[in-house]
Amino acid sequence: MKVLVPIKRVIDFNVKVRAKSDETGPDLTNVKMAINPFCEIAVEEAIRLKEAGTAQEVIAISIGTNACKEQLRTALALGADRAILVETEIEVEPLGVAKLLKAVVEREQPELIILGKQAIDDDSNQTGQMLASLLSYPQGTFASKIKIEKGKINVTREVDGGLQTVSLDLPAVVTTDLRLNEPRYASLPNIMKAKKKPFDTLTPEELNVDASPRIEILKVSPPPERPTGIIVNSVDELIEKLKNEAKVIS
Ligand code: AMP
Repeated sequence: MKVLVPIKRVIDFNVKVRAKSDETGPDLTNVKMAINPFCEIAVEEAIRLKEAGTAQEVIAISIGTNACKEQLRTALALGADRAILVETEIEVEPLGVAKLLKAVVEREQPELIILGKQAIDDDSNQTGQMLASLLSYPQGTFASKIKIEKGKINVTREVDGGLQTVSLDLPAVVTTDLRLNEPRYASLPNIMKAKKKPFDTLTPEELNVDASPRIEILKVSPPPERPTGIIVNSVDELIEKLKNEAKVIS
């Protein structure tokens, strides 16, 4: 079985994101970038399927600028067998990403595509669903457990108030939730070995996909600053302030 894992290069989750002063987007100057955490979970799950003998090949794919090679190399060091960069300077939106992924799925014919449930930069939570729809594949989103048996995949989904398990025919699209697994770290020997693994670069034009944006971002601004707190000396004082200053109780 071939598994395709789309990974997105995003600002590292530890970084406190700042908006550019002209409010056109986040300020990326000297900011540490990383694999989107949900995509790391997707890579880990694919590698575990390979280690279990269920998958034979894991392909990591990223869509974006040449800089995405860094995250693809990390995926190779973690255990992916080969990588594909669909190189573009356009900031591709989820629909564009889904269309490009569909074109690659048609070339590669993976039986399973594991994406993150969302990218932590745009919080869209759309790409997996759109890809499944474009391919007419079944989808299991927000997976916290997967099990592959006899041409089917059982996906346990994190839904509001509990878990739901669905059985899907392969090929299928799965998106990962936080509890699916704990991703490993890349070891130094594997980082060295990753440099020799196959790495292809494609363009949207080669895939015959128009990935131009349809959404215009009008403004990116930080949340309003919270006023500094104060320490009150008694419960009576707290109640008085909640009543007369904050006016949240009467
Ligand atoms: P989103 O729909 O933007 O929240 O992203 C959900 C998932 O789609 C991510 O976790 C990735 O697996 C995949 N994805 C989104 N954008 C890209 C991209 N530019 N390159 C590769 N995969 C992506």
